[in-house]
Amino acid sequence: MVRRRRGPLALHPPVRTASVVDQRLADLRNDLEAARLRNIGFPGAVDFDYTALAPFLTRELLNNVGDPYVDGIGRNHTKQFEREVVEMLADVFRAPADDRWGYVTSGGTEGNFWALRLAQRAFPGRPRPVVYFNERAHYSIPKIVRDLGLDAVSIRADRFDQIDYDDLHDQVGRRRDRPVVVAATIGTTMSEAVDDVRVIGRVLDRLDVRERFIHADAALAGLPLGLLEPNERPGFDFADGADTVSISGHKFPGSPSPSGVVIARRSLCERYARAVSYTGSPDTTVAGSRSGHAALILWYALHQHGVAGHRRRAREARELAAYTHAQLAQLGWPAFRYPLAFTVMLRTPPAQVLDRGWVLASSDDGWCHLMTMPGVTIGVIQDFLADMSAAIADLRRPAPLSYSAGGHAAVTA
Ligand SMILES: *Cc1c(COP(=O)(O)O)cnc(C)c1O
Repeated sequence: MVRRRRGPLALHPPVRTASVVDQRLADLRNDLEAARLRNIGFPGAVDFDYTALAPFLTRELLNNVGDPYVDGIGRNHTKQFEREVVEMLADVFRAPADDRWGYVTSGGTEGNFWALRLAQRAFPGRPRPVVYFNERAHYSIPKIVRDLGLDAVSIRADRFDQIDYDDLHDQVGRRRDRPVVVAATIGTTMSEAVDDVRVIGRVLDRLDVRERFIHADAALAGLPLGLLEPNERPGFDFADGADTVSISGHKFPGSPSPSGVVIARRSLCERYARAVSYTGSPDTTVAGSRSGHAALILWYALHQHGVAGHRRRAREARELAAYTHAQLAQLGWPAFRYPLAFTVMLRTPPAQVLDRGWVLASSDDGWCHLMTMPGVTIGVIQDFLADMSAAIADLRRPAPLSYSAGGHAAVTA
């Protein structure tokens, strides 16, 4: 093929001078800085400073291509750190010491995909398996089930937003001959309700279901709950009956770029590993090339504070959530919070509060939530409560008897 030379110079995009680029970056920083303090609707922790990792964001590609446990041919990877991340979380989630595997994903969704694909592979014969999940499950679950061509049943949520165990019993009972896959939600997206995997296990026991696979989608709440004593929290880990657990790295750990971790028993998944001579590492993950930075950032987040530090972060976040809930109750504003949650559900605030820049995540039913993730300070919450208090006072003010044309004069004190 003959390559034509490009036409006159004028066709090229204008050369951006360094100062224009710098200005764009400076503007972005300012915008983000301004938005940060009022972003209390989404579950990313913001209490970490990752500046120490800046030197690793210079020239080097960090590519953890393939399996984290087989270094492969390339040397520019962080698989040794990735393995430590997996091991630490496998300990927290009580995976068997001699039978564990996992990797750093691009996020909670990839972990769910990897786990449900493993579940599908575990039951290759007929009858085909059925996936059951809480109707309040994260939107990635129905999407993945569709993409994998799996049969699935959405189970009613009970009045605490947990999977309705009676409905689960009925629905599984109607399909007794089919292998059961349950995608349990450990922290629903809106209210942070937790499906109890121990109770799910008892439901399946009662129906004498032998062929079963339980995935714990623990994107948000898995790590903070896993740091509690098992008798202080709902069941969701390996010892409680889960076969796979996945979390998001940018939620509780507070990674500044999306990531996640999925953990499984090695004996369940190693038969699907395919050797790849080009990379020298088996193809066991969803992606081929994977971010070495993500693994390094998570390692730093987990080891910087250690288990004791993360327990403290979780405790403080829960205390702030409890405080927020109590203050809203005192203001007489409808609100609730499930035990151990960082999430406070509240009736959607008046527009005048939202107009002040507070970012809250809302559902369609007139409720929204705020989350006291680590890094959200009591000062920020008090600013929010002050805005709420002012708006509520305005709502309670008696309506003016008449409106003058100008408007201002009609506002009564
Ligand atoms: C956030 C979340 C996900 C999705 O995780 P991403 O990291 O955004 O892909 C899945 N499930 C639950 C329960 C979540 O909270």
